[in-house]
Amino acid sequence: MSKAASHVDIAENVARVRERIARAAQRSGRSASDITLVAVAKVVDAERVRRAIAAGVADIGENYVQEAAAKRAEVEGDARWHMIGHLQRNKARQAAQIFDMIQTIDSQRLAEAVAQRAAAAGRSMPVLLQVNTSGEESKSGAAPADVERLLDQAGSLPGLRVEGLMTIGRWDPDPERARGEFRLLAELAKQLEQRSGLAVKWLSMGMSHDFEVAIEEGANLIRVGTGIFGPRPR
Ligand SMILES: *Cc1c(COP(=O)(O)O)cnc(C)c1O
Repeated sequence: MSKAASHVDIAENVARVRERIARAAQRSGRSASDITLVAVAKVVDAERVRRAIAAGVADIGENYVQEAAAKRAEVEGDARWHMIGHLQRNKARQAAQIFDMIQTIDSQRLAEAVAQRAAAAGRSMPVLLQVNTSGEESKSGAAPADVERLLDQAGSLPGLRVEGLMTIGRWDPDPERARGEFRLLAELAKQLEQRSGLAVKWLSMGMSHDFEVAIEEGANLIRVGTGIFGPRPR
């Protein structure tokens, strides 16, 4: 572990993030307890994940299947583990075994692969449909116009339970710049509720620097990495 990382006070960071959540929730007329904090642990070792769990975090986010599998085996405690990175179909079997939720379903073929593997493992996997709300080519996610069709396809697969939507806001030092994307995701969720009967349990949006804006726009699942574990080595 680098010296810088070992000096990060994870419990203090979690407390700070919780305060920011509470203020944003209050501004949007909601309670902090309605918002679930996912601690994003990519490149973070098991010991630091344990410290986050000891500080009260109950949800861990990972971007890579391999890394998550190794770490989950090392970390005791009953946190829920979320896949938040781009998932390749050839990793669907392992992903269906180790994760409690997969937030990044963005194509029919991926939905089918995960559904098949989850069903084979006797599970019904909670998933979110990832939407590319910014239109940036570097981002995965279904185009907003394609989400309804993806829901129709994924929603009927045994082995999957579609529980909501996920997006990544554009990166900009000014978090206000991502507000339109968060609003778009919330509007899409409403449309799907009305038109396809989707029971939207989760709106996953907002990261360390923009989660307040996301909460104001309706997020109830936020994904915070550096705000808890400190800067990642590049
Ligand atoms: C890395 C990552 C995060 C956390 O980003 P921070 O800026 O460190 O909070 C959230 N969501 C996704 C999809 C990520 O890949």
